[in-house]
Amino acid sequence: MRVMDERMSRIHVAVLGGGPAGLAAAIALRQRGCRVALYDGQRPPIDKACGEGLMPEAVRLLRALGVSLGKQDGAPMTGISFHDAHASASAAFGESLPGNESGLAVRRTLLQSRMAARAAAMGIDLRWGAVVQTRKGGGFRSAGEVIHADFFVIADGLCSTLAAACGFRERNCYSTRYASRQQFRRAPCSNHVAVYWGSGEQIYVTPLGDDEVGVALLTSRRGRRLSDALPDFPAVAKWIAGAESTSSMRGAVTKTRSLREVIRGNVAVLGDASGSVDAVTGEGLLSALRQAHALADAIDAGEPERYQAAHRRISQGPLRMARLLLLLGRFLWLKQLFVATMAKRPESFDALLRVHLAEQSWGSFVRSEATALVSGRRERAPWRLFAMGAYRERGL
Ligand SMILES: Cc1cc2nc3c(=O)[nH]c(=O)nc-3n(C[C@H](O)[C@H](O)[C@H](O)COP(=O)(O)OP(=O)(O)OC[C@H]3O[C@@H](n4cnc5c(N)ncnc54)[C@H](O)[C@@H]3O)c2cc1C
Repeated sequence: MRVMDERMSRIHVAVLGGGPAGLAAAIALRQRGCRVALYDGQRPPIDKACGEGLMPEAVRLLRALGVSLGKQDGAPMTGISFHDAHASASAAFGESLPGNESGLAVRRTLLQSRMAARAAAMGIDLRWGAVVQTRKGGGFRSAGEVIHADFFVIADGLCSTLAAACGFRERNCYSTRYASRQQFRRAPCSNHVAVYWGSGEQIYVTPLGDDEVGVALLTSRRGRRLSDALPDFPAVAKWIAGAESTSSMRGAVTKTRSLREVIRGNVAVLGDASGSVDAVTGEGLLSALRQAHALADAIDAGEPERYQAAHRRISQGPLRMARLLLLLGRFLWLKQLFVATMAKRPESFDALLRVHLAEQSWGSFVRSEATALVSGRRERAPWRLFAMGAYRERGL
């Protein structure tokens, strides 16, 4: 153990980007004995357009990093509901979870400050306000100085210039959409994240506290803002009408994309810089936390290249779910059928949410639904139509 500690303390890692992904990696590496320096061009508390929902596993992974968040820090998030003009469907985070833990909605600035405070307490060398650039002959520099380290972790977000400059190439880009988010003083209707499906776009509402909600628009129409879309979502518009806004409107791009590789020599990419899924999945933070733990384990084991396979395993489920949800968003009739089916069959929606949370595999989900259909326990028509539609449109 001592030999391992000495070996790890000799490894010096530079983390480039201090969003949730970079901070999680820095803390996880420090926990394993590495010397860590973290660079970010901004200063905490750093805000970003985000739905601010943490899945139950994300809350647990943060706790493992020593970042404990409780109900007093935000609002419990106990499930998800889908609404369209015709039907509503709800699913709860599984009773199967240890301690029946719920997710948590936490303001982005609070999450980032808590993680930054934990990193500082662990002795991580934090360089805020330090923009990183690549050097011509290779390597990185900040404020005119070369960054020396044994290993580099790039975590500079969705439009990562550092990853592109280091030769990390895109494998697929399935979608690019635009988001705008604003917070309002209004008591949440429930502890569920509510996704309202419109024509080719969605609004989702996250409970942020007893009297505050976050409202985010996701659309493929560039330049369209939340205020432009509200007339097409009368239920949401009516509900927030007259509510005081507690934040300014923030815009962002959201992409579903993957990279060919996530590690090249002594440089790894992490978080949105390493691939991402559309924000409608509410998955980005969980994936970043899983990746941070996986990368730290791989470096700790002296086999950083193992991160490649771990990253692929982590990304597969969210990518599949993102493609399914994007497909629903694209075809009105398919989305209506899906919401209507889930409203009639809440047990199927619960099972789908378990797949989303990686508590159940896609294979076992398809098998259990097929068995139920064959044995006649479930009404066949909606599922059959939905499956036929999905197959015809995209071969899912
Ligand atoms: C509208 C919207 C809603 C979302 N809702 C959810 C949700 O509810 N739940 C969820 O889990 N996920 C959600 N996501 C996704 C989530 O926000 C991202 O997955 C997450 O922010 C990724 O974290 P990151 O650390 O990789 O990147 P970022 O948070 O973008 O952090 C990157 C950091 O790198 C720094 N940086 C960039 N370039 C440099 C440079 N050259 N030098 C130094 N520093 C640099 C930036 O200052 C920044 O601090 C949502 C996304 C959007 C757009």
